[in-house]
Amino acid sequence: MEISEKTSKKKSIAVVGAGIVGINCALALQSQGFNVTLLDQQGIGEGCSKNNAGHFATEQVFPLADARLLWQLPKLLLDPLGAIALSPRYLPQALPWFIQFFNNMRSKYQQKNTLALKALNKNAISYYLPLLQQAKAEHLLTTQGSLLVFETTNLTVVKKSHQHYQQAGVAVKLLNSEQVHQLEPNLHKNINYALYFTEVAHTVSPYKLSLALAQLAQDKGMVFKQFTLKNITHTANKVLLNDGQQALTFDKLILATGAWSKKLCKQLGYNLPIEAERGYSLSLTTQNNDNNKSSGNENIALLSRPVASTERKFIITPMDNELRLSGTVEYAGLYAKANYKRATMLYKNAQFILDKLPTDKHIAKQDKWMGCRPSLPDSLPVICQAPQQDNIFFALGHQHLGLTQGAITGKLISQLIMKQPTDIDIKAFCISRFN
Ligand SMILES: Cc1cc2nc3c(=O)[nH]c(=O)nc-3n(C[C@H](O)[C@H](O)[C@H](O)COP(=O)(O)OP(=O)(O)OC[C@H]3O[C@@H](n4cnc5c(N)ncnc54)[C@H](O)[C@@H]3O)c2cc1C
Repeated sequence: MEISEKTSKKKSIAVVGAGIVGINCALALQSQGFNVTLLDQQGIGEGCSKNNAGHFATEQVFPLADARLLWQLPKLLLDPLGAIALSPRYLPQALPWFIQFFNNMRSKYQQKNTLALKALNKNAISYYLPLLQQAKAEHLLTTQGSLLVFETTNLTVVKKSHQHYQQAGVAVKLLNSEQVHQLEPNLHKNINYALYFTEVAHTVSPYKLSLALAQLAQDKGMVFKQFTLKNITHTANKVLLNDGQQALTFDKLILATGAWSKKLCKQLGYNLPIEAERGYSLSLTTQNNDNNKSSGNENIALLSRPVASTERKFIITPMDNELRLSGTVEYAGLYAKANYKRATMLYKNAQFILDKLPTDKHIAKQDKWMGCRPSLPDSLPVICQAPQQDNIFFALGHQHLGLTQGAITGKLISQLIMKQPTDIDIKAFCISRFN
């Protein structure tokens, strides 16, 4: 059965993938008056965007492919519950990605990729502000900065790291133990130093944020359909999307399918070395001692801002109703069963960072979650028009920063479709770099 979209003077656009990136693309395009249909195999915001750390991490301007990682890698990989895990069975499949990742550690690529990330991150938060205002969801964004804390790292190394960020133009202060504890009194006495990033933000619920922006797009006329895209065919001015049972026709297509994008790009003739960097979170809802009811206020009181640990490589975020511990990287492919021990181990790590971490007695609910970060070996996303097709666009591969870069990506895609100059130079984000 073929369902053609209603003929209309306005162009019809399908955005496939209802994660934070697809939602932002759909919202930006619907706001420009296009007829947008958002399609997803699951519900809205149910993929990697759901239970992440909620950090608008604009300070993360350095690509992950960093030669210093090479020294730490053997130790990290040997510990089955360490910060990075590679399933031996998955190694042959992951090898080509790792070769490209290691290649990106060369300083000329690192510098180039840092510049591109800086441009994308620089004003990333400001792109969200008008959207959240329109969605009446400003309360979902908190601008209290964030901390990167150090337990054992010596001061010389901490100072170097501080300088490194400063030289990259990131707003950052170096705090000693006393200053850190003044800012966050519930941090463990182990914490000796911290870098305080003053211009970053966090959300108290990445899921609610996704839903609020999708609702705003729906209020403007966007339609959401559950649909698993299996096959794409296209002519010069139409795109036909098939799920095996029905076909939908649109004028244009935006692929925002996150970690699941490889096969779809292949169908269109593009190589996309994307890897699912599986990460975990553990969300703790504490209970109010008096009446045994869960309450989020303690979490807010425990921390005012996200706190990331340098040595333990994870982050704690005070959320709406919970304290969320997130992190770890696991290479095991898209479809391997989640290993939730990787989520529970975050609790052990948090005991070294937070004093008064809620104990079993005070925890009403623990939610373990795994998400597939869509990661390319150069740490840059793909944001571009398909080089061989005028009516197909890509917005994918945002690795650890999809929440941070979602709104600016939506804006850039809408500018590309409207053939307007883009707010930043997007050459570095073209899929042609892999083809
Ligand atoms: C533990 C953890 C913590 C993180 N913390 C942060 C953070 O603090 N800040 C930050 O900026 N980022 C963070 N990230 C990264 C961030 O979550 C991702 O970069 C972001 O969610 C990617 O968004 P997306 O829209 O590209 O992908 P997704 O949210 O995964 O959305 C892709 C969607 O495409 C759909 N889809 C795929 N294939 C098809 C198909 N064939 N047909 C139909 N639908 C399809 C999927 O169902 C999915 O809903 C974190 C990630 C993890 C795992």
